[in-house]
Amino acid sequence: MCIAVAAQVKTTSMSKVTVVDHPLVQHRLTLLRDRTTPPAAFRQLLRETGWLLGYEATSDLALEQVEIQTPLATVRAGLLRREPLVLAPVLRAGLGLAEGLLDLVPGASVAHIGVYREAQSLAAVEYYFKAPTRLSGCPCIVLDPMLATGNSAVAAVDHLKAAGASELRLICLLAAPEGLGNLHERHPEVRVWTAAIDDRLNEHGYIVPGLGDAGDRQFATD
Ligand code: URA
Repeated sequence: MCIAVAAQVKTTSMSKVTVVDHPLVQHRLTLLRDRTTPPAAFRQLLRETGWLLGYEATSDLALEQVEIQTPLATVRAGLLRREPLVLAPVLRAGLGLAEGLLDLVPGASVAHIGVYREAQSLAAVEYYFKAPTRLSGCPCIVLDPMLATGNSAVAAVDHLKAAGASELRLICLLAAPEGLGNLHERHPEVRVWTAAIDDRLNEHGYIVPGLGDAGDRQFATD
């Protein structure tokens, strides 16, 4: 699927996938893809894209009505419910998106999930999991910038569900059709927000055209 038409995927059979084709997202995505964008700029762009994708992915969060005084009158108005939103960045690349989401919802809890890809098999290997004890009933957003094979995202959702999470969604920057297929085969109810669906995976499991290794691009480790 070419990038130019990826946004049109929005309402096809993949009803659980929202491609956020807003120009402010697409502008940042182009800069993130550009190999000459240095790590500091990459981190800032990823954070800002986290705001924009997060804004879309949280549009149904519940509000409670409270009474407040403006300088002129008393009014009942909405505040985010006290049940915490849980952000679940997949280490390490998910950390940049988490920064953006935490800017939006500073009171969110964070579940850190350490998963790496075994180089040959591309299987997900978990090495760390630390989540809030209360996950049930809280919206929980997995943050995994590159939904490539989908193995890491599946492992993250598996683990969060085993720990009690019941309302899961996922934000990524880029998705491969293979990753979306894998995730939805295992967890069909998980809604996904992404900036684009790219063409394919290469033989090393990287998204093409993609943006390279999102962890290395953030942390200058290539
Ligand atoms: N992880 C990345 O960082 N990039 C890819 O293209 C695939 C997985």
